[in-house]
Amino acid sequence: MNSFTYTRADAIDVAVDERASEKTAKFIAGGTNLIDLMKENVERPTRLIDITRLPMTSITETVDGGLRLGALVTNADTAYDKRVVKRYPLLSQAILAGASPQLRNMATDGGNLMQRTRCYYFYDLATPCNKREPGSGCSAINGFNRIHAILGTRMSDGDGQLAEPQCIATHPSDMCVALAALDAVVRVTGKNGERAIPFADFHKLPGNTPHVDNTLEPDELITSIDLPANGFPKYHMYLKLRDRASYAFALVSVAVALEIENKTITNARIALGGVAHKPWRKPEAEALLVGKPATKENFQAVAESLLTGAQGYGHNTFKIELAKRAIVRALGQAAKLEPTA
Ligand code: SF4
Repeated sequence: MNSFTYTRADAIDVAVDERASEKTAKFIAGGTNLIDLMKENVERPTRLIDITRLPMTSITETVDGGLRLGALVTNADTAYDKRVVKRYPLLSQAILAGASPQLRNMATDGGNLMQRTRCYYFYDLATPCNKREPGSGCSAINGFNRIHAILGTRMSDGDGQLAEPQCIATHPSDMCVALAALDAVVRVTGKNGERAIPFADFHKLPGNTPHVDNTLEPDELITSIDLPANGFPKYHMYLKLRDRASYAFALVSVAVALEIENKTITNARIALGGVAHKPWRKPEAEALLVGKPATKENFQAVAESLLTGAQGYGHNTFKIELAKRAIVRALGQAAKLEPTA
């Protein structure tokens, strides 16, 4: 591990100033991913700015009837908060599907958004990796890519052709899949003041800058995550498929939030995890369900639409069919057509 300095910020503007003055510094809170990356020499910050004393540790009501999750609230406290359980059960379910109790007790909500891919090659300094070292290549495309992406990996080259991917990593979070489905908003503070980033715009696809995971400016700090008033408490499901029953990342996960009136779907949200560089949504596919009854046929049509353009890279090709089946099952469970156990 490289040597680094450590400071503890006692105010948000101090933390932002410190980060802005040292481009190679990093904020640290729970440290559940960053410390691992530092031990492996993947991350080599010159300074850690401890933000755990900043006033971002509570869950509060917002004026529009939603909830504001302070960036330093732990994943465990969020998942078990009575208001979250009652009004945003999809979020609680997703958080509890992730990591382990010990990790959820340490990991913060802001940090959950900032965690990096678990691509094996990203952690292995002996192998080329465009995310770790831009321009070096991607070891996963022709390597062992069982956990890798099937959507959003190829970008247009400007001539209408799809260029070869530079990175096929997936975003590892469960919580973020639910936040994407709920249309959460990420609130940040930087040298230029505060701004709100719609969740769909927070994480990015790899494109030709796979080393950049999100749209934060270097000096910006996540201060909170806002949940809109509608938490879809009645019809929801977070389905996570993985290699073992706990403490494993998703091969495919599906967050579903529905509103159903008189047996007709009036609102539908579907976000996928484990399949792309960011939580994957496709509003055109969701729109296919609106005004329709909750039937397996309609769910299958949505699943086909969501996976349009999916590409496997060998070991992960099974995910295409797995994702379709998971979507149909999660929609059926959310609509209470089939049991959740
Ligand atoms: Fe690196 Fe991305 Fe390729 Fe993994 S998939 S080796 S993170 S460039």
